[in-house]
Amino acid sequence: MRLISSGQHHATFEFGALQVISLRDGYIDMPATRLRDEDGCALNELPATVPLAGSNLRLSVNAFYVTDGTRSVLIDTGASDNWHDPTMGLIYDALGEAGIDRADITDVAITHNHEDHVSGLIAPDGSEAFTKLERVWIGEADASVFTGRLAPIRDRIVPVSEQVAINDWITAIPTPGHTPGHTVYDVDSGTGHLLVWGDTVHVPTLQFDRPNVSWEFDGNQSQARAARAALLDQLTRPHHYVAGAHLDSPGIARITPSGGGYALEYLAPPIG
Ligand SMILES: [Zn+2]
Repeated sequence: MRLISSGQHHATFEFGALQVISLRDGYIDMPATRLRDEDGCALNELPATVPLAGSNLRLSVNAFYVTDGTRSVLIDTGASDNWHDPTMGLIYDALGEAGIDRADITDVAITHNHEDHVSGLIAPDGSEAFTKLERVWIGEADASVFTGRLAPIRDRIVPVSEQVAINDWITAIPTPGHTPGHTVYDVDSGTGHLLVWGDTVHVPTLQFDRPNVSWEFDGNQSQARAARAALLDQLTRPHHYVAGAHLDSPGIARITPSGGGYALEYLAPPIG
């Protein structure tokens, strides 16, 4: 997998016969007290290697578009304007910058039902952001989010309750923990695997080194911790890569064991 071009809001990678395009929706600032130890308590102290923006952690927000030139899937959609801080909602600019017409998007896969992943289905003007949308895969246990502003899309939901192929090269894999319907998408290029792992890690500068550290919004902390451990282990295999919603944009990396934890090596310099 290799970087072939990038801009302020996107980075394009060649992955076998596929292209993977990372789309930066923006960022969220969150208090460091959201980090939890194994007893569920907020961490007392952060290592100096964890950068802060003021007193907050700054989390990148990424979505990913995968195409074989004929069939394409957008994985996650950013926050649109559905957040109290206007630091997200850049996905539409990112798509334009990458040369993707959002009117061509028919297939969307959602990792889980939180606002920074699902809200981008609706544009800031209240209209559907992807006017030719035909299918939206989402974990069945998370599908109740399609009410209110998202209700018009409910008729296109494809609920995921077990491992299922969504096309020739993407498999949806239920990974409950962060939310009950949290789903990882395994992109198999024939030359390797890219796991688009949603919210498995929120703070890459800490949680690879200390994978037992959890996040306040991991709905089931122990289940999320177990899912993270299994995915990290899987990702140390040869030709495996990760795409993370909250890894530093563009958020695509290789993972290797390191000490008692893991090290990650980004495949592209930072954007945004
Ligand atoms: Zn998130």
